Amino acid sequence: MAELVFFSGTMDSGKSTLALQMDHNHRARGRAGLIYTKLDRAGSEVLSSRLGLSTPAREVSDDLDFWDAVVDHATSGHRVDYLICDEVQFYAPAQVEQLAKLVDEMGIDVFCFGITADFRTQLFPGSRRMIELADRVQVLQVEALCWCGRRATHNARIVDGAMVVEGEQVVVGDTVSGPKTVVEYEVLCRRHFMRRMNSAAARAAASSPEVLPFDLDVCPLPQQ
Ligand SMILES: [Zn+2]
Repeated sequence: MAELVFFSGTMDSGKSTLALQMDHNHRARGRAGLIYTKLDRAGSEVLSSRLGLSTPAREVSDDLDFWDAVVDHATSGHRVDYLICDEVQFYAPAQVEQLAKLVDEMGIDVFCFGITADFRTQLFPGSRRMIELADRVQVLQVEALCWCGRRATHNARIVDGAMVVEGEQVVVGDTVSGPKTVVEYEVLCRRHFMRRMNSAAARAAASSPEVLPFDLDVCPLPQQ
């Protein structure tokens, strides 16, 4: 029975690595699949993992209709047993519905990988629809760690070194989006997300005489 599965996790939780492994395992069993991604950090039409592996992929544009694309591919003589869909948080809810239809109407396994919540702790629309429709939601076992060593559960956006909780939902990291503006992401535990204390802020606080001795349990909320 074909399934729609959502593998979710924070950044750095090994999602893309698992996506590549999953594709390898299915191909090794003689199955034929298509790989999709959107806004991968390595560029267009590639699925890359932080461990350095990558593979060509189909880029998901805003107007892509998965149903039409896969039906076209199948009717032109190609077998499609499964789809690997990375960065599914960036897909439109309607595209997630098309993926569910491929599972139900064509018996294709669809394995999706993505982040659930954005840097404001709000669900991405694509991830929300995945959670609503998936046969299974699986939280990845490789746990990303906060700088304090706790399990990292939140994705923080860092703009020019400072953590922010307002702004556009989708800004790809490690990019220069304007004059001297650098956007990065860092995974944090909830405690340090709520305190707006990313690793740089913690280092600054630890080296500031006013807050020594630095105690994680009593450290104040940094000034906004
Ligand atoms: Zn922490």
